[in-house]
Amino acid sequence: MTSPDLEFYCSYSDRCYECCLETEMPLAEKDITRISKLGFQIDEFLEEKDGFMVLRNKEGMCFFLKESRCTIYENRPEGCRYYPLIYDLDTDEFIIDDLCAHFNDFDPSIYQPLHELIRYFIYTLLSEKEIRAEKTREEERKRKKGE
Ligand code: SF4
Ligand code: SF4
Repeated sequence: MTSPDLEFYCSYSDRCYECCLETEMPLAEKDITRISKLGFQIDEFLEEKDGFMVLRNKEGMCFFLKESRCTIYENRPEGCRYYPLIYDLDTDEFIIDDLCAHFNDFDPSIYQPLHELIRYFIYTLLSEKEIRAEKTREEERKRKKGE
């Protein structure tokens, strides 16, 4: 199963993998479910960071990067499919991440068809983060009450 249908096309991806080094890519629940179904344990490819579930690095690179290739390419996380186009929540703008090795070579305006997908994805991440936080608070309340 792959998703979504629309993706950012990076013409350098056959020879560049900088965005897979020291990654902090957040995953949505549907990403986690999809990748888990491939047979990976959640703890081996994910960690929590600031309330988000992000890809785990191994020796400075994404857990899934092997011999310079993404080993789950067809099932890679939704955020990896949009990168380096990112959404700035503060300014409500879609920009090319200046951490991308070819930051100056992409024009964000031509990727307009991706904008709503990315905005929806970001709000999904924020919503799922809040749900996890509320679950943790509820567990803590129960623990204090001795339930
Ligand atoms: S999942 Fe694949 S594309 Fe995404 S950061 Fe890891 S190696 Fe790169
Ligand atoms: S760092 Fe930028 S140029 Fe390199 S593969 Fe990632 S998106 Fe493409």
